[in-house]
Amino acid sequence: MAKSFDVVVIGAGPAGYVAAIRCAQLGLHTACVDRWDDGQGNQSLGGTCLNVGCIPSKALLDSSEQYYKLQHQFAAHGIRVAGASIDIAAMLERKDKIVRTLTDGIRTLFEANKVSPIFGHGRLASGNIVEILDGPNGAPVESVSAQSVILASGSEPTPLPPAPFDGERIVDSAGALAFAEIPRRLGVIGAGVIGLELGSVWRRLGSEVVLLEALDTFLGGADQLVAKEARRQFKRQGLDIRLGSRVEAAETTKQQVRVRYTDSGGEQALDVDRLIVAIGRRPCTDNLVSADVTIKRDAHGAIEIDEHYRTNVEGVYAIGDVVRGPMLAHKGSEEGMAVAELIAGKPGHVNYEAIPWVIYTAPEIAWVGATEQELTASDIAVNTGTFPFAATGRARAMEEAMGFVKIIAEAATDRVRGVHIIGPHASELIAEAVLAIEYQASSEDLARTVHAHPTLSEAFHEAALAVDRRAIHKAN
Ligand code: FAD
Ligand code: NAD
Repeated sequence: MAKSFDVVVIGAGPAGYVAAIRCAQLGLHTACVDRWDDGQGNQSLGGTCLNVGCIPSKALLDSSEQYYKLQHQFAAHGIRVAGASIDIAAMLERKDKIVRTLTDGIRTLFEANKVSPIFGHGRLASGNIVEILDGPNGAPVESVSAQSVILASGSEPTPLPPAPFDGERIVDSAGALAFAEIPRRLGVIGAGVIGLELGSVWRRLGSEVVLLEALDTFLGGADQLVAKEARRQFKRQGLDIRLGSRVEAAETTKQQVRVRYTDSGGEQALDVDRLIVAIGRRPCTDNLVSADVTIKRDAHGAIEIDEHYRTNVEGVYAIGDVVRGPMLAHKGSEEGMAVAELIAGKPGHVNYEAIPWVIYTAPEIAWVGATEQELTASDIAVNTGTFPFAATGRARAMEEAMGFVKIIAEAATDRVRGVHIIGPHASELIAEAVLAIEYQASSEDLARTVHAHPTLSEAFHEAALAVDRRAIHKAN
């Protein structure tokens, strides 16, 4: 007789584990199935985000930034350090320890909320039965049944046929988080979020980094004023970003990888010691449903859902990276809470207009809402205000006087439609902008809000004043 639950979640990433905890909080008897192995045969909860994504990448970004600052910025503060060096093994061990602490933390949260973790590969069979296999293509070891099943199986790196992953010279983002030594020459295919973040990590540690980007536009999803400033800053840091580069082949020898690509100048070759392929991620649905169930998927392989996260199968829902929309941890977590509330008969909802994006480079890049280019293309007249961090006392005191805040308000109503930041702590500053979009604030609301002095948030305040050409600390 199969064990029965009110809800079974497949996937314990930020979408699935949050859904499971919220279901349990709402009184639903809940299990969460995940196959992630810590390398020693133990289940590691938290999905891509905690194991090989958001958290380990930020750990390495932080370590490498400290090292970079020590070498390039401390002297400006009068701090002299001689003979600095980096211990890569210690840096990686710190990262792994953070991952272990946080993944163990999810287990503790499951215990506290009485969510049953089940270790294995989950496969949905008809009648809302979830079979547990001892591996993606393994044998069934157990079955559980549920009133509702939530599919939260996440995403995986998109492979590039001319440069297949070999786990050694040609790696995905997980491989790039575990290089045992600093590559002297590092190639990255894809100048997107992962390429820029992980390219920055290894550049700061000393690698020569070349990014090959297929498109002619840099950071096409960002406001182009920000993208232009970002490109300028990255160039200064030594990130060699080559747009319009089409990779044709990657030839691997024992020592290196030769990447053959074409650009506007014709055929080119690039020799590197390691190559990261980061050209996007695709929904992960391998053996997720058995042959007797059909779950509809879209042209990108994402599971199709309606506005209440329902798939075409009664009682089966899907959330996170495996469905449409941005592949972001916080988007998946919000969907996890919303779907739990809907299953419990409550009004769950996510405001997709107010999802922040952050790129954790230096300077950081963060935005929420529409870009000026998107609004103009939709014939929406706007007023914009920008303010440079260089004109704030706090950024100067921090020796981080670079970048700016840009606020875009609709001309007809003054409603804030987009906020774009490049500069120090943009990842934290964007929260105020998200709240402004969520509450449908006007730029005047922000201009009349008191901001502490001296803080970086004064740049946000001044940008709001600049929408109406009345910024104080710059010429309007
Ligand atoms: P996942 O986190 O992918 O989790 C899915 C889980 O399902 C996995 O644990 C997997 O083992 C399990 N699973 C899949 N199929 C089955 C099955 N059949 N049976 C059992 N278990 C299964 N996002 C941000 O918002 N901020 C960041 O800073 C950020 N940094 C990132 C850095 C990197 C290097 C990468 C790769 C990603 C980053 N992301 C970031 C994206 C973020 O990790 C994802 O958006 C997020 O993890 C998606 O959550 P999810 O729960 O939908 O899926
Ligand atoms: P991405 O979509 O951000 O960037 C991929 C880049 O590769 C794009 O610029 C694309 O034009 C380019 N590209 C595609 N095919 C190519 C080819 N054949 N040759 C050269 N370039 C090519 O994807 P990613 O960087 O792989 O990251 C995947 C996802 O993970 C992101 O979309 C994001 O949702 C998530 N993520 C988020 C964060 C964060 O929030 N800070 C960090 C890392 C990853």
